[in-house]
Amino acid sequence: MCVAKKILFVVLDGAADRPAVDKTTPLQAADIPFLDRLAQEGILGIMDVIAPGTPPGSDTAHLSLLGYTPSEVYTGRGPFEAAGVGIDVRPGDIAFRGNFATVKDGLVVDRRAGRISDTHELSEAIRKQLRLDCEFLFKESAGHRAVLVLRGEDLSPSVTQTDPQHTGAMLHSKPKTNDASSRRTANIVNDFTRQVCSILADHPVNRERTLANQLPANAVLLRGVGSVPQLVPFEQRTGLNAAVIAATALVIGIGKLTGMRYIPTKGATGHVDSNIEEKVKNVNKALREHAFVLLNIKGADEAGHDGNFNAKMHFLTRVDAALSNLTIDESTLVVITADHTTPVSLREHSGDPVPFLIRGKGVRTDQTNAFNEYIAAGGGMNRIRGRDMMPVLMDLLGKGTKFGA
Ligand code: ZN
Ligand code: ZN
Repeated sequence: MCVAKKILFVVLDGAADRPAVDKTTPLQAADIPFLDRLAQEGILGIMDVIAPGTPPGSDTAHLSLLGYTPSEVYTGRGPFEAAGVGIDVRPGDIAFRGNFATVKDGLVVDRRAGRISDTHELSEAIRKQLRLDCEFLFKESAGHRAVLVLRGEDLSPSVTQTDPQHTGAMLHSKPKTNDASSRRTANIVNDFTRQVCSILADHPVNRERTLANQLPANAVLLRGVGSVPQLVPFEQRTGLNAAVIAATALVIGIGKLTGMRYIPTKGATGHVDSNIEEKVKNVNKALREHAFVLLNIKGADEAGHDGNFNAKMHFLTRVDAALSNLTIDESTLVVITADHTTPVSLREHSGDPVPFLIRGKGVRTDQTNAFNEYIAAGGGMNRIRGRDMMPVLMDLLGKGTKFGA
């Protein structure tokens, strides 16, 4: 075969940066001999994952990289988070992401309830005692996080959130459009808030927390509402059976909603302490049975949000060492990229293009020999958009869609 057969798509979440310490980026400062070798053997470029100057969210970025058009299919973050924590969501469900929070006299004092680590018992109480005017599913996620899914007729995602996003008054949900479904959904959301506060107020877990001088988790704030979209499965679009290996509910959810098989990894946390070595082992296994594997490694984004240059640099060094244990040959196209830039100087996503490399059979190589934002800008792929990536890869697999005779 003269073309590659499989694709390993590695997203180093938020790895790209702007000039920072000594005018270098964490990718430039990190020790990444394996990625540099792939760069030498492959082709590089830079990519506007959504569009030039548009800071992407992780959700819209991943959709775009996988070949979907976010402006057509993205309804909000809630549906992906809900799918990611294991709720079997259905198209049309209304999904929110939630935070356990500490509320006193109607005021949010801590949006994360003192960073509570385990909300299982509190969530059980909500599942048992809550009665809403529609079918619902509530599930805890990592730390203080949770998801709420409303199911049934006459529901609408066109309602405001209850999370004020900072301390201060807890918000009432209001309909954003003047129709019966939106009004009904806002009422259900406000009913959820009231009942959850009363279920949690005197819960033994919170009594214990208060005695131990910890903030009680006595409310759940909702945001990120969206109607679960109907996505054409990735395999149907590409003919490639796919697996996703990731730690964050969001990316797992995107994989699940696009019909990928989710392969869990022990010790994968989504933080800089994540067990990336185990993830790489899982990738090696997954590639035996799948033609497409999406690997998301989250830590660099977290370090970017923390404004911590050294943590980001050291994490990328560790990622490189872990990736060097990939057992892949030229018949697997490897893509290394980021879903967005998370500059340590901004602590937020920015609209700068991200570097990427493609290595594998049939790839026209270029003169580049290192993987970072600057070298990639001089690579043979020049500058592309996120939505161009899958067509480029499909063409390299010999599955491009011919236009014309
Ligand atoms: Zn991201
Ligand atoms: Zn981020």
